[in-house]
Amino acid sequence: MGEHSRFSPSKAHIWGNCPGCVPITAGRKHTTNAAADEGTAAHWVTEQYVHGISTSVGVPAPNNIPVTNEMLQGAKLFRDEISARSQGAIYTECKLSIPSIHEDCFGTLDAFTVSNDTLYIWDYKFGWNPVDVHGNLQLIAYASGALVYAPRIKHISIGLIQPRAYHKDGPVRSYIVPIEEFNTIIEKLRNAAENATSKSPRLNTGQHCRYCDGKLMCPAYNKLTRDIMDEFSVDYSVEAPTIDMIGRELVDLLAMEDIIKRRISAANAELTTQLQNGGVCNTWVLNTSVGRWMWVDNAPFTEIEAITGVTISKTTHITPKQAVKEGIAWDHIKPYVYKSAGVKLVPAENIDGVKLFGGTNDGRK
Ligand code: SF4
Repeated sequence: MGEHSRFSPSKAHIWGNCPGCVPITAGRKHTTNAAADEGTAAHWVTEQYVHGISTSVGVPAPNNIPVTNEMLQGAKLFRDEISARSQGAIYTECKLSIPSIHEDCFGTLDAFTVSNDTLYIWDYKFGWNPVDVHGNLQLIAYASGALVYAPRIKHISIGLIQPRAYHKDGPVRSYIVPIEEFNTIIEKLRNAAENATSKSPRLNTGQHCRYCDGKLMCPAYNKLTRDIMDEFSVDYSVEAPTIDMIGRELVDLLAMEDIIKRRISAANAELTTQLQNGGVCNTWVLNTSVGRWMWVDNAPFTEIEAITGVTISKTTHITPKQAVKEGIAWDHIKPYVYKSAGVKLVPAENIDGVKLFGGTNDGRK
């Protein structure tokens, strides 16, 4: 196994939908950012927890990011959930190779355990964007790799533990993958990997482009951007557009806004990387800026207030939704809450389940 997996399970939702992204992003340096560093530290905390090693707020993780209370709470949720399912050993941070998809497909699974006739796969996500567990290409790829350790199981359960993202099904979501669906997805990923290494890999734009590092270099995404711009050479010969025309235009404008925003973000990231590596650009330079001041997790608010006489603790009430998230039963607050009136435009396509680009928000069809 090399250092970097060409067909990394964590990016299967991109290359599984667009094999052409593999050659386009090959050799690109893997840069990190604050959110990724925080995620790495949060994963380290979960591993400590599962193995009964205590850590506390402020202790630096191996990547020097201090442990926070949120990380500890998330780790507890992770450990409790997995322990509840397990009747035997729990394997964490497992390096799995997945030759059923490609010899260059390998990655690190957060945890798995085997109980009776079921293989349980768990992934921990510390980010804010809710991820769907159904048909999750990453988890199904991992399950295929873990099958080596559980050849006689009859069921595969894939699960996500995502403590911070709001999802209607809660922070812990799992489901038993029907075997036909499992086989179909593995075949789809195997075919995508094969196509990616062919002479003319297929490029396929969609919601998965959002997470692709190749947007700026990709001819298909470039064409999509320009096609949309062309499409917006508005025909002003119609003096009074009908309500349907206005509605259609709003849908198109929002799609364009989304694609342009992503291209801006890709151009921004690429330019920053090149300038940091010594590149010179006639139109942009890097300027060092300082972020805003934040409280550390264990700041002694009470003492500061006692000494200064200034109230700095949060005085506003959290919202009813946040209260439920904090663990207050809905029945307790129901008599005291109401829904504010308001109107909001909702794209009709979304209600019909027809998305603009035919995919879910993480790119899976
Ligand atoms: S930007 Fe989209 S179409 Fe282009 S390589 Fe990436 S995923 Fe594929």
